[in-house]
Amino acid sequence: MNTPNTGATQYPAKTSAETYIDADSHTKLYQQSLASPDEFWAEQAKRVDWIRTPSIIKNCSFAKDNLSIRWFEDGQLNASVNCLDRHLETHGEQLALIWEPDSEADAVRKFTYRQLHNAVCKLANGLKSLGVAKGDVVTLYMPMIPEATIAMLACARIGAVHSVVFGGFSPEALAGRIQDGQSKLVITADAGKRGGKRVNLKANVDEAITLCQPACVENVLVVNHCGETIALNAPRDIDYQTLVRNQSSECPAEIMDAEDPLFILYTSGSTGKPKGAVHTTGGYLVYTSLSHHWVFDYNPGEIYWCMADIGWITGHSYAVYGPLSNAATTVMYEGVPNFPDAGRLARIIDKHQVNILYTAPTVIRALMACSDEALANTSRQSLRLLGTAGEPINPEAWTWFYEKFGHSQCPILDTWWQTETGGMMITPLPGAIDLKPGSATLPFFGINAVLVDNDGQLLTGAAEGNLLISDSWPAQMRTIFGDHQRFIETYFSTFEGYYFSSDGARRDEDGYYWITGRVDDVLNVSGHRMGTAELESALAAHPLVAEAAVVGFPHSIKGEGIYAYITLTDKQAETETLRTELKQWLRKEIGPIAVADIIQWTDDLPKTRSGKIMRRILRKIAADDFDNLGDLSTLADPGVVARLIETHSNLK
Ligand code: ATP
Ligand code: MG
Repeated sequence: MNTPNTGATQYPAKTSAETYIDADSHTKLYQQSLASPDEFWAEQAKRVDWIRTPSIIKNCSFAKDNLSIRWFEDGQLNASVNCLDRHLETHGEQLALIWEPDSEADAVRKFTYRQLHNAVCKLANGLKSLGVAKGDVVTLYMPMIPEATIAMLACARIGAVHSVVFGGFSPEALAGRIQDGQSKLVITADAGKRGGKRVNLKANVDEAITLCQPACVENVLVVNHCGETIALNAPRDIDYQTLVRNQSSECPAEIMDAEDPLFILYTSGSTGKPKGAVHTTGGYLVYTSLSHHWVFDYNPGEIYWCMADIGWITGHSYAVYGPLSNAATTVMYEGVPNFPDAGRLARIIDKHQVNILYTAPTVIRALMACSDEALANTSRQSLRLLGTAGEPINPEAWTWFYEKFGHSQCPILDTWWQTETGGMMITPLPGAIDLKPGSATLPFFGINAVLVDNDGQLLTGAAEGNLLISDSWPAQMRTIFGDHQRFIETYFSTFEGYYFSSDGARRDEDGYYWITGRVDDVLNVSGHRMGTAELESALAAHPLVAEAAVVGFPHSIKGEGIYAYITLTDKQAETETLRTELKQWLRKEIGPIAVADIIQWTDDLPKTRSGKIMRRILRKIAADDFDNLGDLSTLADPGVVARLIETHSNLK
């Protein structure tokens, strides 16, 4: 196994001592959370303000024919009140949101908790005046601007269910999601800016609406963000400013049952048709608030920046609901981390004196590939904690992030979780859990992670297998919108009595988890099982490799062969000599069984808008199966597919 560290290391942490939990208390509390979930979660639920305190805590069963996931079910609350109103007395004048624009020349926008509260109430009243009521699904197709957060919280305030669709999606992808949720209202902007480019959101909405048959959208609310002159198609289209201008800044919040839906969010689509994950109010809020508090060890006054777009679950849980429920000061950035150059991310950190940064491996790898530029003329001394999510982080990238970016002073929190889980599931807690580069470490409170083999046999001790969760946790998704049967089949049928994550993991002798990738990304080469994550991180450890993606392809002798798509840091190095060297390298790093049969150079990989490699497309190309590539609508750059097919064909 390609693991630089065998033992756990206590990485130094620049922290304040108050909220830190030590290793012993952590172990005790974790055990208590599994042994007495009712007691544990009743206590944790106190961090949320309830209109009616729940007396029933957990009512859950994972039995396939009797599935029930209900938390705090007789409790009542409102999520927007928890993120805003309850902070007004003590934190009203504190900043809730610092917005950094795409262009460094444009002005920063800031909102105190009181200003954010006012903006949310005005929009909530505006939505009501349009006839939006509790239970209605509102689609948000927004750039990363404060109005996106405001719109989410305004929906939550009146009990409308928001369905945020990432602003980079195509009109077709947007139409599918509007249609699935039967949204009567879409909130958008004239355009968004990313890396100096305009994204014409309103034009995409217009096109999407023509694709929705039968028609469901009655109104489109448009934020004038870029000052574009766009045609407002009255009476359907409404200008945001005009709507909110004369609304009252007081809006009584809807009383929501804990199990009332808070939002629908479609999974990122790296494996198939996106699923509308439904999350409910009480359990989700308790869990995201608690995990944000513990994992980021958030201290009052600190500046917290989660880079995820609000179109992803990370943006929901850890850019909006988690941090705002904890009265944090958050940073929101409109653009991309390497615009106008790779130093932008570090400059934003210095500019706003960011203490806690939460990002993704794809960002870290991109910056590492131009390390000097990424670090130039910045100190990054304000940083205290660094987090990542979304993909396995290879030890190479982990180490660069830790040593170079964070000056060996900031623990790295590699958090494993999913759209479906609502919040972090396997994650370090700074100060309590020692780190190992490349491992997401240990399960969070209340999470009973287990490994089973393909026959469903429970594996104990150090082992590798399918990663399952044996009991419910409060932030778990409750259903797939409109398709409860698919929910049961996808998550509770493969291994009965368990939630199946579809990910594989290895557990080492210390009980640490190492995510090996999706189960269908595990290769079987001559009877040996290998996770793509392991092969990829071995390849990425070579100094000339910027990024690698590995898939299996049908091989007449081995069953499955290893096919590697590789992006180099220097295109000039794309030679036969290096190809041979990399094959030797993999053999040396992993073992003689890991022989790369084919290496294809590529400038780019097919990635979802959230930056994840879509291996199913790479698998099809490797297998010469170009006709069934499936849904490409969630790709960041669909053009990459044709380029890959062309190089692949020339390779043979
Ligand atoms: P879809 O389910 O539509 O195919 P997706 O799985 O990419 O899309 P998400 O819910 O955004 O959608 O991502 C969750 C997945 O991301 C996990 O199942 C896992 O494969 C991967 N992942 C997330 N965090 C980590 C991590 N820290 N380490 C390893 N893998 C991770
Ligand atoms: Mg998934």
